[in-house]
Amino acid sequence: MYPTKAFAASSSTARLAPFSLQRRNPGPRDVKIEILYCGVCHSDIHQARNEWHNTIYPCVPGHEIVGRVVEVGTDVGTFKAGDLAAVGCLVNSCRHCPNCQDGLEQFCESGAIFTYNAPDHVSGGVTYGGYSDSIVVDASFVLRVPKSLDLAAAAPLLCAGITTWSPLRHWKVGPGQKVGVVGLGGLGHMALKFAAAFGAHVVLFTTSPGKAADAMRLGAHEVVVSTRPDEMQKHLNSFDFILDAVSAQHDLNAYLALLKRDATMVLVGVPEHPLPVAAFNLIFQRHTLAGSLIGGIQETQEMLDYCGEHGITSDIEIIPIQKINEAYERILKSDVHYRFVIDMKSLTG
Ligand code: NAP
Ligand code: ZN
Ligand code: ZN
Repeated sequence: MYPTKAFAASSSTARLAPFSLQRRNPGPRDVKIEILYCGVCHSDIHQARNEWHNTIYPCVPGHEIVGRVVEVGTDVGTFKAGDLAAVGCLVNSCRHCPNCQDGLEQFCESGAIFTYNAPDHVSGGVTYGGYSDSIVVDASFVLRVPKSLDLAAAAPLLCAGITTWSPLRHWKVGPGQKVGVVGLGGLGHMALKFAAAFGAHVVLFTTSPGKAADAMRLGAHEVVVSTRPDEMQKHLNSFDFILDAVSAQHDLNAYLALLKRDATMVLVGVPEHPLPVAAFNLIFQRHTLAGSLIGGIQETQEMLDYCGEHGITSDIEIIPIQKINEAYERILKSDVHYRFVIDMKSLTG
């Protein structure tokens, strides 16, 4: 084991503060990565504050990790010291259940091992995430970052990117479709970029009228302020697909009513409390309400490669880790443009 500097939440009400944790020395199949940047996902806040009622403290969040390989185990042929590498939301899974076999490790029947707050079957204890200066991960769960991408701006692809890419691909969003994205935060802004790149007509729903110009620049063709009923009314029964990336309580029914016959709305946002759904909004026009969880390893690599080919990254604001608590407060006020990324030099420097 070796010591690693980190920032952790020690309780649901504590501000994140410096913390020292122990990482395992790399085993034969492991890659040790010096973390250069880590994106700040709203899930980090939900988890640090125990809004999903399962947090184990101390909690070191962070699952949008990019960095440089510093050491590899003897059996690792895919990475070498000096390579760029990335780690997303998953660090392990059983690898042989039907879901793992299908490349859907996030749905592993034995339970996917998430990058933080999950049982660590290799080192014991609980997994600690990317708000830290180094991490050791099995090579099968380490991703390659295309060299052409800005490293800091690529970090959010590891969660915000794959979480929006995966449902847009699964539900085959493309040309000729009218697609809605609800909420312009970290996930929402990646959804705009991908849906536009896939050729759809993209409509952003926002509670923040001030974000309209940014939304158009990011790929939206229309912007609807969701708090204005007359604007919502104009889009009744017209959407082929809606992706909902809202982190807090909101009315799903207002969006279900906008779907065409047989169309689907997918939730990726995970608000703390259940959201009521009126059956009428599903039975009329045979609507589907679905959900989606991040994406598998192979799919994440495909997304990164696509981003490399098309020059897609996140719009980011870089912060030192000492500003993490302020960043959380700004995210909670929807004042994020459109992802905070921690420069990890601030941890050691
Ligand atoms: P974020 O950057 O905070 O964005 C959320 C956006 O939702 C806000 O910018 C805001 O957009 C909108 N919003 C916030 N409060 C609202 C309210 N009360 N009513 C209506 N809209 C509101 O968060 P994120 O990092 O994108 O994450 C979004 C959600 O996805 C979180 O719940 C997160 O845990 C979840 N998540 C899920 C997965 C998965 O695998 N399914 C993966 C990652 C994250 P406007 O200002 O445009 O209204
Ligand atoms: Zn995330
Ligand atoms: Zn499995």
